[in-house]
Amino acid sequence: MTPHIDEKVEPIFQEVLNRNPGETEFHQAVREVLESLGPVLVKHPEFGHHKIIERICEPERQIIFRVPWQDDEGNVQINRGFRVEFNSALGPYKGGLRFHPSVYLGIVKFLGFEQIFKNALTGLPIGGGKGGSDFDPKGKSDDEIMRFCQSFMTELYRHLGEYTDVPAGDIGVGGREIGYMFGQYKRITNRYESGILTGKGLDWGGSLVRTEATGYGATFFVQEMLKARGDSFDGKICTVSGSGNVAIYTIEKIHQLGGKVVACSDSGGYIYDEQGIDLELLQQLKEIERRRIKDYLNYRKHAKYVESGNIWNIPCQVAMPSATQNELNGKDAAKLVKNGCFAVGEGANMPTTPEGIRVFLEAGIAYGPGKAANAGGVATSALEMQQNASRDSWTFEYTEQRLEQIMKTIHRLCYENAEEYGTPGNYVNGANIAGFIKVANAMVAMGLV
Ligand code: GLU
Repeated sequence: MTPHIDEKVEPIFQEVLNRNPGETEFHQAVREVLESLGPVLVKHPEFGHHKIIERICEPERQIIFRVPWQDDEGNVQINRGFRVEFNSALGPYKGGLRFHPSVYLGIVKFLGFEQIFKNALTGLPIGGGKGGSDFDPKGKSDDEIMRFCQSFMTELYRHLGEYTDVPAGDIGVGGREIGYMFGQYKRITNRYESGILTGKGLDWGGSLVRTEATGYGATFFVQEMLKARGDSFDGKICTVSGSGNVAIYTIEKIHQLGGKVVACSDSGGYIYDEQGIDLELLQQLKEIERRRIKDYLNYRKHAKYVESGNIWNIPCQVAMPSATQNELNGKDAAKLVKNGCFAVGEGANMPTTPEGIRVFLEAGIAYGPGKAANAGGVATSALEMQQNASRDSWTFEYTEQRLEQIMKTIHRLCYENAEEYGTPGNYVNGANIAGFIKVANAMVAMGLV
């Protein structure tokens, strides 16, 4: 059935459009969740009575601030910083920081909104939030990155706390940036509070598996979808868009599970390597040298680089969009299905457009939306918080086991809710409904706050 908004929910969506003009990504994320909620209101009239949907669409707090810093030439630069503390019904606000020139309030709100339901699905005590800046880390020196991060934290620190708000990384924010921000927080407050950020380095409060977690988790989720159809990764040809942290560890886990990833990409184009992407080389180029993916060809002569190419034109059985929002449209989805793709797991947040989602659902393929499939990253952040709170650190094996178990549980929740609400196999509805009900119940219990 083509997704649409139930007539009881439509006026709420119209109000979201009116109150948040121009924030197209936020509108898209809200619409996608609201399309699943009609049947929920029928079973749970109390959610209507307490205006839970209206309240969930309005962030609890939105912070916008100036981030002044000096570049290497001594010029003053000004960026804009954001933190949207969306919902704290299940725990402290939790969600990453994104540094990318496209960042504005509409992007931060779409990410924060998705984060509420994603975090609820993990079953761990974390609310939803997101932040970032329109700062472009591309081409910046290490010193410039440090000065920017210090300035950013000089404003943000007053809003953080292990029981209040706990950011982490997202696009453009990795271990290096988290380090600079943690250092500045510690300096300003004179407190070593490990629990105020996740994604920390392994020597100073970070968790093993956090770096790998989003990619590993997305792959575990797809493994569960395949299992539910009596299949596995073994021998499958896969494509993974992106070449950042999520893509790299998706490729690693797919290879461990017997699949073969033949392509990955960056904003310049894609690499096709029919022998399978050489992960060690990719890590050397991207993680250590911070170079463009094009340079892969200097070391693997038989591979192809297609500048500005569309990775979704490559035939595959499993596709894992792991770059950014709206990177896969209706045409791409149709092409994937036509070429025999039968499973899609989203490592990125909202990478498939509404038209693309429609194509996947109508084709009846296994489609795992980001808020379920990529929840492994934030779930492992919550495991980092647990370790920090108990001043403990767990082994890689134990932490990965916990992650795998969490992803299996998320899959089961989505699967069962999709069935219970009359759309078996529809993980979009399953994820939206399971995540929403959990948050909604907590909000009802806590009264009008
Ligand atoms: N940015 C990641 C996400 O989209 C992780 C957030 C976190 O670990 O807090 O879920």
